Amino acid sequence: MSSTLSPSPSKVKRRGSTRRPRANSQLPPLTQEAHDAALYSIRAYLKNHTSYDSFPVSFRMIVLDIKLEVRKALQCLLTNGVVSAPLWNSDKSCFAGMFTVSDIIHLIQYYYKSSTYDSAAADVETLRLESLREIEKELGVEPPPLLREYPAATLYDAAKLLIQTHARRVPLLDHDTETGHEVIVSVLTQYRLLKFISINCGKEISQLHLPLRKLKIGTYVSSFPPSAEGSPDGNPFYPIATATLDTPVFDIVHMFSERGISAVPIIDENGIVVNLYETVDVITLVRLGAYQALDLTISEALTQRSPDFPGVVVCTASDSLGTLMQLIKKRRVHRLVVVEGDKGRLLGIISLSDVLRYLVGEITIGEGIEPSETQVSTSAPSFVSIPAAVEEASPPPPEENIPQAAEDSTPRPTDKVPPTE
Ligand code: AMP
Repeated sequence: MSSTLSPSPSKVKRRGSTRRPRANSQLPPLTQEAHDAALYSIRAYLKNHTSYDSFPVSFRMIVLDIKLEVRKALQCLLTNGVVSAPLWNSDKSCFAGMFTVSDIIHLIQYYYKSSTYDSAAADVETLRLESLREIEKELGVEPPPLLREYPAATLYDAAKLLIQTHARRVPLLDHDTETGHEVIVSVLTQYRLLKFISINCGKEISQLHLPLRKLKIGTYVSSFPPSAEGSPDGNPFYPIATATLDTPVFDIVHMFSERGISAVPIIDENGIVVNLYETVDVITLVRLGAYQALDLTISEALTQRSPDFPGVVVCTASDSLGTLMQLIKKRRVHRLVVVEGDKGRLLGIISLSDVLRYLVGEITIGEGIEPSETQVSTSAPSFVSIPAAVEEASPPPPEENIPQAAEDSTPRPTDKVPPTE
């Protein structure tokens, strides 16, 4: 684990500011009203901008034909360091959905349950992307909805769609006026949307000073201290799905699929967070021929992780939403594990979907709960502090040169790049 949001004053290294100090009167005081006003302002900003506005200055998009073999499609994702791609039906010249890590998870569940390694490996050689929906039927899994958004629709509408459908990304489709055919323009991810907000609503973000837990952002253990007593499933960290280093990979793959989550904290016998296993880790296993690798334990599977793995980001429940948004501006982060105490005991998990839901969605402004009795620790030894986590992000974009659109750089193709979401 490498990074934390927790302040750790002794380790904080700050670069000397070269800017002239601002007049104090420029920013309103940090009050609940200022927080609420900042939220309204962010929502208004999203209502006044379209998905087109959020496009990076330059970007690459990979579209896969549904006739492509799954094996080649996987290789293509891995080579390009991405974990999803829109699908194209060239017979009908139309958009055909998305190929995502969920498809890969269904595929390996199916093969793990229904065939020998040899027959699975042989099948994957010939199986085409268009057959993936058949596998979902066999597994009794609901097919993913054929989501789409018009790129000229407002970012607010796109965000609402992401929230309502629990999707992590929405493909943006336009029409070619000459042929009338659909055109896949881009894919709007939760991360790109939040990064766009963090770049363009800096003043508002500085007003989001209230703590994450008070704002009910994330999922938290329901009993404190954690106890199996009274827990519906005997899990002391209920409702957080957790695992240990000895858990077989297949059990976690099952949790991903069953609970619709994309990461599971790995804890020791005292509930101390020792790692995080994410859906993107499954892709790394697939590259190695995962149809039998699912019997590996998590500790064995983690040895296969790319040496470039950026680390697990942790925070405390008392870190503020504004601090988290600052981190999103500087670093590609998809989730944070919330820990408490000096040792870093598991307290919760925060996904980008939680942050987006709060910024854009249902929660009535100012309706947050008071934090529980828990005394949340503000330091986690051996982890670097949030300023360090932010500075660690390389290279930090020069403030003056930030384009309005969120720059969403894709790693250069190399099979050493860890897949990003
Ligand atoms: P995600 O799949 O990461 O977008 O998360 C979807 C929802 O599930 C969010 O509300 C998260 O807070 C929650 N969540 C994420 N991981 C877990 C987990 N391991 N156990 C329970 N809830 C989770």
